[in-house]
Amino acid sequence: MDKILVTRSSIPPLEEYVEEIKPLWESHWLTNMGEKHKALQAELKKYLEVPEIELFTNGHMALEMALQALELPEGGEVITTPFTFASTTHAIVRNGLEPVFCDIDPETFTMDPGKIEALITPKTCAILPVHVYGNICDVDAIGAIAKRHGLRVVYDAAHAFGETYKGVGVGNFGDISCFSFHATKVFNTIEGGAATYRDPELGKRLYELKNFGIRGPESVVSVGANAKMNEFCAAMGLCNLRHLEVEIKKRQAVVERYREHLEGIPGIQLNAVQAEVQYNYAYFPVLFDEREFGANRDQVMERLAENGIGARKYFYPLTNAFGCFQGKYDMSDTPIAAELADKVLTLPLYADLLLETVDSICDIIMELKR
Ligand SMILES: *Cc1c(COP(=O)(O)O)cnc(C)c1O
Repeated sequence: MDKILVTRSSIPPLEEYVEEIKPLWESHWLTNMGEKHKALQAELKKYLEVPEIELFTNGHMALEMALQALELPEGGEVITTPFTFASTTHAIVRNGLEPVFCDIDPETFTMDPGKIEALITPKTCAILPVHVYGNICDVDAIGAIAKRHGLRVVYDAAHAFGETYKGVGVGNFGDISCFSFHATKVFNTIEGGAATYRDPELGKRLYELKNFGIRGPESVVSVGANAKMNEFCAAMGLCNLRHLEVEIKKRQAVVERYREHLEGIPGIQLNAVQAEVQYNYAYFPVLFDEREFGANRDQVMERLAENGIGARKYFYPLTNAFGCFQGKYDMSDTPIAAELADKVLTLPLYADLLLETVDSICDIIMELKR
């Protein structure tokens, strides 16, 4: 068997991409909100069923600029989750804000809304939850808490592209939702991201922030940075979007095959299935309970690696245990997240993964079962 990586980027037929970028050779307009940028923005607004959208160089800059656009008080506290990718926490810290870590729900891996209010102080200004593995946060409870305490809400929706919750596009929740179009995500623009929002005032700020805070030739109104999606990335997005429905269907077949093998095995916990969510099948996380299964996460990962199969400890370590924070945070404050981070392994999942390969991967895992 060839080496299997945990993910494999979707790309359109080469001819289709060449056709898409041909006009750039005529216009010589390569970035700064050109035709491709505008076209992708319009397409995504429709696809995500959101009122407004702003494109960025990547998901991380969307998050950073979403927080900056909200003009939160210097040193303000942002309640967030440690069970996420580095980007979420870094976006808070790089804005001069203070992350406060809330524990997660053991079934959906998303922020436990029952634990938010105990963390609110006079300095709390926002909540930054993550739709982990495409599971949607308890947006109703979080929205109610935010309203009660006058807090802003930014969702990290990097895992939830194109999903709906109770029939509503996930980009509609909170003040802003941020998506990632990184090469490894369900929908990619090579590198890219977006922020969706409702308030046009926020939109103006997001637009300016991604272009150095420039409003006009002689007017610079905020300390922005450079986070404009270029035309080649936007063109890639326009192509990939045409194939997305088929790609998601193929991913679904892979996920169903995994479930056939691994559902109901003692010591194995699979991702919850939320009835109200239309999934994008982005990830296949599996939790191994050593006592019941007979092998722990690290042993499973090692055995897969010996067979040329890549799996990923995603998310491990927790962001509140990162070396860069030098012990400032204590992961014993989020015990459920700490426990799950030790158990979780995400298995290979991409549209063209063969179902026979899924069978082999599951056979290798099951050999370790006591
Ligand atoms: C991928 C990802 C990001 C960052 O997106 P980039 O486009 O890589 O900058 C942020 N949060 C989560 C949860 C992610 O998975």
